[in-house]
Amino acid sequence: MDIQLQQVSYAYSKGTPFEKYALHDVNLSIKSGTYQAIIGHTGSGKSTILQHFNGLLKPSEGTVRIGDRIIEAEKKAKDLKSIRQKVGIVFQFPEHQLFEETVLKDIMFGPMNFGVSQQEAEKRARSLITLVGLPESILEKSPFDLSGGQMRRVAIAGVLAMEPEVIVLDEPTAGLDPRGQKEIMGLFYELHQKKSLTTILVTHSMEDAARYADQVAIMHEGSCVLIGEPRDIFGDEQLLAKYHLEPPRVVKFQRQVEKMIGKQLVKTCLTEEE
Ligand code: ADP
Repeated sequence: MDIQLQQVSYAYSKGTPFEKYALHDVNLSIKSGTYQAIIGHTGSGKSTILQHFNGLLKPSEGTVRIGDRIIEAEKKAKDLKSIRQKVGIVFQFPEHQLFEETVLKDIMFGPMNFGVSQQEAEKRARSLITLVGLPESILEKSPFDLSGGQMRRVAIAGVLAMEPEVIVLDEPTAGLDPRGQKEIMGLFYELHQKKSLTTILVTHSMEDAARYADQVAIMHEGSCVLIGEPRDIFGDEQLLAKYHLEPPRVVKFQRQVEKMIGKQLVKTCLTEEE
């Protein structure tokens, strides 16, 4: 499903003395089946933009197209239901949203709420629990008896149980140890590849954006100031510094080696390796 933001502006508390524009004229096209990263300093508008991908927020001006659906200021709630089915959001610390007595019930909750039969919802839960790397026996446990990492996987299974075509990830590795971070990012990349899931990653991690994304967008003070391939975005340190962003560790490492052995030699080594 293609996604397109056209001249999207968003104001919190619009029309009140507290009105605050958090997005200004944002244009962004995300092709179906691609992996998009959105990066930017704190307060640049990433969370605000993220909530536009499934109509949690509606643009004050401009339009958001999700496939053939359009979200704009006057859109009614009923039109948003089908969009919410297609676009799954994994919020930061999604495990905080677990609430059912058992893991099975928690994963089944979303689809059953959208009219999927109990039998089908259970089938999805059983296949997803393995996909997210947990044993089937965990389905009968209380989500609150699990470890933090396991809870996160259950919450992710709950989002996937809706069978979304687009998945939006809001700092999905926050609070995990380095191994857990790698595993979760690997899981999403596998899903993206196997199911051609359009993936939108909002992240502070330049490494993850550089490693996984086909396209990277930089947000700065509510504007989408740059869109490009990771190699163009992350190869230009001056540009990153302008938006208060650090280059990924691998780029920093390359620069250190360049200082030690000379730029040309590093370039030659990299070319030969390719
Ligand atoms: P990021 O996710 O990049 O940190 P946000 O989208 O959270 O950025 O915030 C963008 C701007 O909108 C910031 O200036 C922030 O203070 C403001 N903002 C965020 N949420 C609200 C809100 N509920 N009410 C008013 N202003 C908000």
